[in-house]
Amino acid sequence: MDLEAAYAVLAERGAPAYRVEQVRHAVTRDLIVDWDEATTLPKDLRNALAAAAPVRELVLGDLQESADGTVKARFETADGFPLETVLMRHGDRHAVCLSSQSGCALACAFCATGAMGFGRSLTRGEILEQLLWAARTAQGRGARIRNVVMMGMGEPLQNLAEVLAFCGLANDPEGFGLGARSIAISTAGWVPGIDALAAQTLQLKLAISLHAPDDALRERLMPVNRRYPLADLMAALKRYRAATRRRVYVEYLLLDQVNDRTEQADRLADLLHEHLPGACHVNLIWYNPTAADLEASDPDRVRRFREVLDRRRIPQTLRRSKGSDIDAACGQLAVRGAREARAARRTAPEPA
Ligand code: SF4
Repeated sequence: MDLEAAYAVLAERGAPAYRVEQVRHAVTRDLIVDWDEATTLPKDLRNALAAAAPVRELVLGDLQESADGTVKARFETADGFPLETVLMRHGDRHAVCLSSQSGCALACAFCATGAMGFGRSLTRGEILEQLLWAARTAQGRGARIRNVVMMGMGEPLQNLAEVLAFCGLANDPEGFGLGARSIAISTAGWVPGIDALAAQTLQLKLAISLHAPDDALRERLMPVNRRYPLADLMAALKRYRAATRRRVYVEYLLLDQVNDRTEQADRLADLLHEHLPGACHVNLIWYNPTAADLEASDPDRVRRFREVLDRRRIPQTLRRSKGSDIDAACGQLAVRGAREARAARRTAPEPA
């Protein structure tokens, strides 16, 4: 849903100013699925909007619902790139995990999306449309979306302009009206993007997927660490903190016998005390099985890891991902066959 294209239609036709408000309300508050539902607009304007800015450009494919109320939607862009969106329920609060790209180029070892390869970055409209789908689904349960996390497929900071434009649309008090602090951007450590984010006035939340407290292990788990090693990443986070005074959320996936030793917890505490003193919160995450040859940590090892962080006064929370039974949990998003489909598209003969 390209709202800016809709506004351009109004401008081209010299529509009165109040039409902008009507269009915005129809899309973000009434959650229309088709311009014909926007009955405050004249029929000819609805037709023009439908032609230039369709409400639904993404094609909705499978929908899966987990026992815990999580819903995963599979979409395809108009040019055939797959993506997934996950609606999560925490009590009566709903949050949505959005994709910023179809696939991902960063190839983290624990992540099913990384194994799928990179398709393309999504536009602000394609990201907004995922939120609108989630809002309609939540509305069907009598609920509203309270939080947005850019933690689905892709590295959002590699698609920063579109992601920020989307955040502006979601935050618009006359539109969707989601507080900036309710929108979290999660990065694998794309340093130039962290610096760019630090310069923004929108008070977005920043989460960094750290997952290892030393370069050797982090390189093995997250190849992006070769380009931006921990010293560079931590320096960028320190600059971010200095510029924004905002807390940084540190994501740490617990992998059995890989990154869950007590010495590693101590090393993590050293890093955070040195670079983000009093300015971070660690989210420890249970690993959800993917095709990778990795296992979730044993509960005893998790307990000992947490004890170290507590003793070192690092605030931490242990999170269990939602929707693991439908492959909707952290690290599990992937569309099977996407790599093959892309290759087939590249080699397909031109139509006669
Ligand atoms: S964890 Fe994030 S950055 Fe890493 S491969 Fe998966 S989607 Fe990409």
